[in-house]
Amino acid sequence: MAKAWIGLGSNLENPSKQVTDAFVELNELPATQLVRHSSLWQSKPFGPQDQPDFINAVAEITTELTPLDLLAKLQGLEDLHQRKRERHWGPRTLDLDLLAYEQEVFSSEILTLPHPGIAERAFVLCPLAELDENLALPNLGKVKQLIQQLGEQACSEVLPLEAKVTTRF
Ligand code: ADP
Ligand code: MG
Repeated sequence: MAKAWIGLGSNLENPSKQVTDAFVELNELPATQLVRHSSLWQSKPFGPQDQPDFINAVAEITTELTPLDLLAKLQGLEDLHQRKRERHWGPRTLDLDLLAYEQEVFSSEILTLPHPGIAERAFVLCPLAELDENLALPNLGKVKQLIQQLGEQACSEVLPLEAKVTTRF
């Protein structure tokens, strides 16, 4: 059984519901359990600004799926939410990123581990810190140090919509 962290994001068609529905759907993937998830965080879009704010969250799962099988399942869930891949960094009903899978370091055309955007993205790091600020990501270091590198303000620019971590499963 492997531990993995998933980054969730949505800025279309009731984003909070897209993300909370996805928590349940992650738990329903084969050989996979949702352990816990962060609050929902609101953030300004990364890239083009002429689109709605995003709702982001991070989920911790355990799974028997391999990283590539898990990525395929995550893309299946994105499709289920009718995400249309039309524009890079454009609006989407659901984006699911495999942030990290155990301590795996991997790079291919379709999968990079840890996810390459983590260190620059407060909307990933701040919810991840809610789950475990001492989590050490391979090649990157601890989540709390990555947040410090972004600057003191990093987590005040992304707004938590709910107060605390929920453990429901
Ligand atoms: P972003 O999530 O950076 O906004 P996209 O979701 O549009 O960008 O990018 C999806 C592509 O990224 C997919 O084709 C997928 O194969 C690739 N990819 C590489 N590594 C990962 C990862 N760790 N998690 C999710 N997708 C990844
Ligand atoms: Mg993605």
